[in-house]
Amino acid sequence: MTAKEQLVSWFHGRETTLTEAVSRLVRIDSTLGEPAPGQPFGPGPAAALKEFLSISGEWGLPGEDLEGYVGVVDLNDKPDALHILGHLDVVPAGEGWTVTEPFVPKLVDGLLYGRGASDDKGPMVAALLAMKAIKELDAPLTKNVRLILGTDEETAMRDVEWYYDRHPYAPNTLSPDADFPIINIEKGHYQPVFGAKWEPETALPRVTAFTGGPRVNMVPPKASATVLGLEADAVRQAAEGLGLEAEIRFTVTGIPGGCEILCAGQNAHGSTPEEGHNAQTALIALLASLPMAELPSTAAIRALSRLFPHGDHTGTALGISQSDELSGALSLAFTILELNEEGFEARFDSRTPLCGTEETVNAVAEKALKNAGFTVEGRLDPPHHVPADSPFIQTLANAYETWTGEKSECLAIGGGTYVHDIPGGVAFGANMPGFACSLHGPDERVSVQDLMTTAEIYAQVILELCT
Ligand SMILES: [Zn+2]
Repeated sequence: MTAKEQLVSWFHGRETTLTEAVSRLVRIDSTLGEPAPGQPFGPGPAAALKEFLSISGEWGLPGEDLEGYVGVVDLNDKPDALHILGHLDVVPAGEGWTVTEPFVPKLVDGLLYGRGASDDKGPMVAALLAMKAIKELDAPLTKNVRLILGTDEETAMRDVEWYYDRHPYAPNTLSPDADFPIINIEKGHYQPVFGAKWEPETALPRVTAFTGGPRVNMVPPKASATVLGLEADAVRQAAEGLGLEAEIRFTVTGIPGGCEILCAGQNAHGSTPEEGHNAQTALIALLASLPMAELPSTAAIRALSRLFPHGDHTGTALGISQSDELSGALSLAFTILELNEEGFEARFDSRTPLCGTEETVNAVAEKALKNAGFTVEGRLDPPHHVPADSPFIQTLANAYETWTGEKSECLAIGGGTYVHDIPGGVAFGANMPGFACSLHGPDERVSVQDLMTTAEIYAQVILELCT
């Protein structure tokens, strides 16, 4: 029998083993909680870690809990060739579940539903099943694979930071916490804080307050502002005159001496601003068009409107727009603005391609912001890149193509994955292209057949890297 035939035969009929193990983990609400001794991320993540280590022990692969930060399961006592890094913590259940309760796993038509089924408990069990297959097939291994069970991916990634502060990197690391085929480029992050201060003024009309987005990595779905010295009707007319897209809606309400303006848009992830409708930049555009008194707050609003015009998702007006063939275009979303009678503080979220440097990103943005009279602070977190022609990626691509029959390809993304800070790390699965897993949403699900394929792919990768 060839190695592939041996694997096919070993995996045959193991679906129930897999789904039962994933279900045991889904039943545990492993959202971040209050720290306790040995439970740095609270009782939920700790319980999920304990349960996973029970399963791995039952499967003949005993693991170890490292002070509650991560668990590790080793295939053997040889030197590490590969780390498989995933996580057992989950995002909160949220609303809108229809197929089952979030922590009551349910199998319907080959799909297993429940919080964490896809992110990342199912894929972690698939990786463990791959290790069990290799162990039971008695392959002549000369190297080890270590499965690292993270417990803080969804919040601050203090788990991997803790682990890699104390343990060396492996020559190769893959994470099943994203999508197939292969994510080998993660753009850099540039999210500086900038602002200005001024003396409280009395001249009218003027903007006295502005509240934009709550998070740096989310396109703001809402923004609000208070204007004194202008009637609501005049502001409504100005809003209509802007002619913005239909998804942007302004609500203007009269208050004593002026009006309040609410702007509603559509949120999106900060790395994909073109998928949203930025309420903050729309409201700034409206304010900049109003006949305000010549004041520092007015000058600031007009400068913000000039540097971050509504609909500019690539940093063109700021002067940092750039792209390259491998990683695509720089993206920019203006996401946070808090303004009051004494000044403002703001941030934007920019994802920078491989060609982006301190000179072409920070220096240019800082100059533009300082020219507008603002202070600015923040550094560039560089991009992550593992070349597509490296032997590791060739191995991953080959395994993916062997077991799915689909062509592999390398993807560049703007969001960061679990391996962003791990040298040579690659996100490899486990969501199959086109499968809607409802990541972080209601009715999160995973295809059992896809998980079996994932296990087979990982088993082949382990065989090739460890023998
Ligand atoms: Zn995840």
